[in-house]
Amino acid sequence: MKILLTGGAGYIGSHTAVALIEAGFEPVVLDNFANSHPVVLERLQRITGQTMALERGDVLDTHWVEDLLRRHRPVGVVHFAGDKAVGESVALPLKYFHNNIGGAVSLLRAMQTVHAEDPSTPPTLVFSSSATVYGDPASVPITEDFPRSHTNPYGHSKLVIEDMLSALCAANPAWRVGTLRYFNPVGAHPSGLIGEDPAGIPNNLMPYVTQVAVGQREHLNVYGNDYPTPDGTGVRDYIHVQDLAAGHVAALKTLLGGGESFTVNLGTGKGHSVLDVVHAFEKASGRPVPYQIAPRRPGDVAQCWADPALAQRLLGWQARHTLDEMCADAWRWQSGNPNGYRG
Ligand code: NAD
Ligand code: UDP
Repeated sequence: MKILLTGGAGYIGSHTAVALIEAGFEPVVLDNFANSHPVVLERLQRITGQTMALERGDVLDTHWVEDLLRRHRPVGVVHFAGDKAVGESVALPLKYFHNNIGGAVSLLRAMQTVHAEDPSTPPTLVFSSSATVYGDPASVPITEDFPRSHTNPYGHSKLVIEDMLSALCAANPAWRVGTLRYFNPVGAHPSGLIGEDPAGIPNNLMPYVTQVAVGQREHLNVYGNDYPTPDGTGVRDYIHVQDLAAGHVAALKTLLGGGESFTVNLGTGKGHSVLDVVHAFEKASGRPVPYQIAPRRPGDVAQCWADPALAQRLLGWQARHTLDEMCADAWRWQSGNPNGYRG
């Protein structure tokens, strides 16, 4: 059974491709390599022993997407493709509205057209949403019925796509849609062959910490130590990318088994502070991670972690990996590939 992965060469898509193969599916990767590298496909082949079909192109090209849906006839689609840098989205909002919202519209229209030609298979989609849709939550843990808001164009784009998907399902009950709100994905495949490969200076904590540990950056700036949290630094729900990948397999199996559309959090239900991550990483790598306390980063919330009970109930899924395992796998990837996929 084929599954189309838009953005399948990216960080989360590549790990999901491996999990899908292990679960007996046949992933087809669609990517324009705007934020990834074709060498990922070779790495995936080394991990799985299988060659994965690649469709190189842009999800914004609706007719091309229709054509590849006709050729491959996937039973489901996972839509990862999009831009994800919060800061860049503030500077370049139209880029985000065009690629993220425009990309989703293009994909959905293509799926709708191809479904109309052959209504025997229900259009089935899993969408990469984000905990960013909760804005600054009034309390933790966060359940799916918390109010949604946005503080930047990236978050706004996720919110609009969620609303589009609800409208589509309301208009046409044939659609089966699983919306996954990821918390903070970190870590890498235990082989050390695939992982997160940010371009330029990383915005996110874990890739920054790994680059400090490997000696590429002098020290970490810890953004604020005066938050109302146990050690004063920001608290997040870090989830191993392998657990996240397993969540996509569970979501697809639920939808393909005839399940209703759903929206669920994918998180561990545990919060860790910035300093918890620093210390766990030092332990995993055996390297010091020097840090300095810096002012709070504008737009950051004090704490954010999931109540993952709904995903457990609906999908039979729960996160299994510890913070120590996330750090050990992130370190294996970074130390084996100090320059990411670029050599
Ligand atoms: P990523 O940048 O590694 O992967 C996205 C992939 O999509 C890249 O390979 C990129 O080349 C491709 N792409 C972008 N625009 C495209 C287009 N128009 N046509 C074809 N391919 C295109 O990002 P990721 O971390 O794997 O994230 C995947 C999804 O999950 C994104 O939608 C992101 O917003 C969402 N998400 C990520 C995080 C996170 O922290 N990584 C958290 C929450 C949600
Ligand atoms: N953070 C930090 N230094 C960095 C990057 C992040 O102290 O260089 C902190 C940030 O303030 C937050 C946590 O690490 O408390 C997670 O930040 P990240 O950008 O990884 O995720 P998000 O803020 O999107 O949850």
